[in-house]
Amino acid sequence: MPNYSDKDLVAYLDESLSMEKAADLEKLLRDPGQADHKDLLDRLQQIVLSRDSGTHTIGEIWKRHRLSCPSREDLGRYILEAISDEEANYIKIHIEVIECEICRSNLDDLQHSANQSQHAVIQDRRNKYFQSSVGRLRKQ
Ligand SMILES: [Zn+2]
Repeated sequence: MPNYSDKDLVAYLDESLSMEKAADLEKLLRDPGQADHKDLLDRLQQIVLSRDSGTHTIGEIWKRHRLSCPSREDLGRYILEAISDEEANYIKIHIEVIECEICRSNLDDLQHSANQSQHAVIQDRRNKYFQSSVGRLRKQ
């Protein structure tokens, strides 16, 4: 696996990195399962933040390179916290730093239905409790 220097990352941001290297780098940035994934994301973010000229934001870069959106399933697991820290971090960056509108509204939507089903479960329990209480009262 190739290592990327800060110079490479800067070149990537300026789109002056060789196509081949850029493609490999993007693969690492897209896949939370890759060993250097988090490290590279952090470094990339650091470089973006430390740049004075506001020509790039990590969000622009992300959108331009179409770094992948997590699937709806991943977002669902993110809400349920049934996800690895690395994956959760990726999604967090994707939504909070990159501010991907699509994923944000997907997440809102999922959150909403998660709340609803939780609410339904509680409601169901209440009903059962109520019915058994009523049943007990009737027997007395
Ligand atoms: Zn997205």
